[in-house]
Amino acid sequence: MASLIPLLTEYEKDHISERQALPEWYLGLSDAEMDARIAGARRTLGNRLVILGHHYQRDEVIRFADYTGDSFRLAGQVASRPDADYIVFCGVHFMAESADVLSAPHQQVILPDLAAGCSMADMAEPDQLETCWEELTQMGITPQLGSGQAPRLGSGQAGVVPVTYINSAASIKAFVGEHGGTVCTSSNAAATLTWAFTRAPRLRSGQGGKILFLPDQHLGRNTAFKMGIPLDEMVGWDPNEIFGGLTPDEVKSARMILWKGHCSVHERFTAAQIATVRKQHPGIRVIVHPEVPWDVVQAADDSGSTEYIIKTITGSPAGSVWAVGTEVHLVNRLAREVAPERTVISLDQFGCLCSTMFRVSPNHLLWILEELVAGRVHNRIVVPDEQKHWTRVALDRMLSIK
Ligand code: SF4
Repeated sequence: MASLIPLLTEYEKDHISERQALPEWYLGLSDAEMDARIAGARRTLGNRLVILGHHYQRDEVIRFADYTGDSFRLAGQVASRPDADYIVFCGVHFMAESADVLSAPHQQVILPDLAAGCSMADMAEPDQLETCWEELTQMGITPQLGSGQAPRLGSGQAGVVPVTYINSAASIKAFVGEHGGTVCTSSNAAATLTWAFTRAPRLRSGQGGKILFLPDQHLGRNTAFKMGIPLDEMVGWDPNEIFGGLTPDEVKSARMILWKGHCSVHERFTAAQIATVRKQHPGIRVIVHPEVPWDVVQAADDSGSTEYIIKTITGSPAGSVWAVGTEVHLVNRLAREVAPERTVISLDQFGCLCSTMFRVSPNHLLWILEELVAGRVHNRIVVPDEQKHWTRVALDRMLSIK
């Protein structure tokens, strides 16, 4: 069964110029020359260098990673290489920010292409979150806070704990850390919600506290639903509307306040695609990432983080056929790794590509590494000191929640 999806779409070709410009002599190199030079620079830098690669990275880049994984796993790897001076993060901007916060003072975190951002992370701005918190307070929702402590309630107030997905800017993580909340990933989202509900003060006996979950409404909804929270106890907070587009009663009766953000890659998957693959491949199993919309998770057989998807498929019996709803680089890599015992196809026949992750090209990686060999550091990601403390608090909470 043919399953691999070609990766450079017409869209990509049109937007290739949006990548960070490189010196001319790093363009037009052959694959063989780039590979040899990247490998040579890595050898020269030795233990002073560690390269982290996210599962959604393209093959030409990820094959040079010392560690691969999802955001959660890579965040945990940062501490495992205190000997490295340079952490080159082949991922997107928010991941490099987290690595900077978790790294030792002597370490420098580098993103090979500064244009590698995340459209979901961009959907939550610090001033929008400040406004949201203030409006929740006006609705009688936000608790009084002890600095960095679990929320304390004034009389008549309901408690809310903010939880941000790791796919958010350091400024958002810092806010959450300072206001008694934490960061989660798709790997530990359920454990995080359990943790947060335990901390969210109760309004009246029998009525649980609330979680403000941002920026991905789908991950929040899918995780909470799986834990048994019904959809009518969740509301969507639109940061572009006054009071999130909600009434105080709507917010008061909700347990989950879901920020209306999403991943433009995962939102492309549909329940109709699942119906189509089931018709085309009777007996196929469908597994999706929880960043997809709720109805898609309901139509699928299983859902989970990229690590969970990999574990489930590699552990499935020989002869299994899978349709996978996540970024196409991971799907294609998995298809190759488990073939011929198992068959893996993309749920979207055109593949869903994260175009910002794709901006990290082997050319950018080569440029960064050769400049490091020459003693020059480019594209260093530094989280401002005033955000570092609370971001670290939020990330440490994340890493402690199993
Ligand atoms: S796949 Fe979606 S959430 Fe992940 S980096 Fe790309 S845009 Fe952001």
